Amino acid sequence: MSRPSPAQRTPRGPSRRRLPLLALSAALALLLPLSTLSASTSTAAEPGTTTTFTALAWPGATVKAGSSPRVNGAIEGWKAGRRVYLEQLVRGYGWLVVGGATTDSAGRFALTLPTSWLHEALPYRVRVPATPRATQAISPASYHGVVPARSLKGKRSWWTRIEPGVRYRYNACQVIPWRVNLKAARPGALRDAKEAIRRLGVATGITFEYRGQTSHRTGNLETWPEDTNLVIAWLTPKQSPKKFPGRVVAWGGPQQGLWMRDYEGRTAMTTKSRVLINGNVKVPNGFRPSKDGGGPQVGLNSRGTILMHELGHAAGLGHVLKRTGQMMSYKSTTQYEAGDLGGLNEVGKAQGCMLPLQGASRLAPPPRLDD
Ligand SMILES: [Zn+2]
Repeated sequence: MSRPSPAQRTPRGPSRRRLPLLALSAALALLLPLSTLSASTSTAAEPGTTTTFTALAWPGATVKAGSSPRVNGAIEGWKAGRRVYLEQLVRGYGWLVVGGATTDSAGRFALTLPTSWLHEALPYRVRVPATPRATQAISPASYHGVVPARSLKGKRSWWTRIEPGVRYRYNACQVIPWRVNLKAARPGALRDAKEAIRRLGVATGITFEYRGQTSHRTGNLETWPEDTNLVIAWLTPKQSPKKFPGRVVAWGGPQQGLWMRDYEGRTAMTTKSRVLINGNVKVPNGFRPSKDGGGPQVGLNSRGTILMHELGHAAGLGHVLKRTGQMMSYKSTTQYEAGDLGGLNEVGKAQGCMLPLQGASRLAPPPRLDD
């Protein structure tokens, strides 16, 4: 008998659940082991039976977040008990397993298209790995986007980069660890931060992991907590490394980046990022609409929406001036709207994984910090 093909060693169940653990194993490691790369599954030995799809029904091109759209199908050949995988094409990585099922005695299977993060149309396919007795079957790609259940304001093109000309973003194929400094925070601050981070994760496809509190104030890169990328710090103006002039109540942005590459070329991978909030300023908690405009300015916004705005900066977005209904303009709303989501897609997982540039890694230019 031949060795089992790599595909057969793929653990059962959707592999995206394993993503955080694996990505943690090394700071710069890509997120999944080679065993889930379909490129390595083409070596089934002496297949006796040809596996073919006899039916495959995809959901619509656009599916709603939080829904459970089904991919139904059936195979012929060796029918029963075959593992079937739903895979999504991740740029710079390859096909990533995002769901799995096992065929019944009639060869039928049902997969669920994941809707946990929002993105424009991305290619999906169904793959039945080879076994020692049967060939592999791979479906043609089918394109699907995930949109919020609510309707969006504005246009998808209404976004900018925080550092014009530099594609600053988190490496979406790593878990992004974050901490809070609650030195000058009021009650409920951590709860709002967790909800704002959750919303950023839905909008970008990036997995953020809370690592607890820190006393770090983000002024000193040398003493940055080692296992942390993002620090959200509530500080008094005296404690803050960055002043809060006029009505500015918060700052956000990448703090340090490494030059890397992705499918589009050179990109700056954010390795340290921060959100600074003036703890002396009392703002309503939660995610309330602002009365007269918005933006991270005194008296105009709630703590949760300020956090969302600053986290947009930390993720690499700049302001969108004179547009209404956009988080990244000063006319904030309580949700990320069309332009925000368009921009957050451009700095998120939809842009795929990053790879090192050849030669020694070099620091990207220091990015701006935006209020
Ligand atoms: Zn801003």
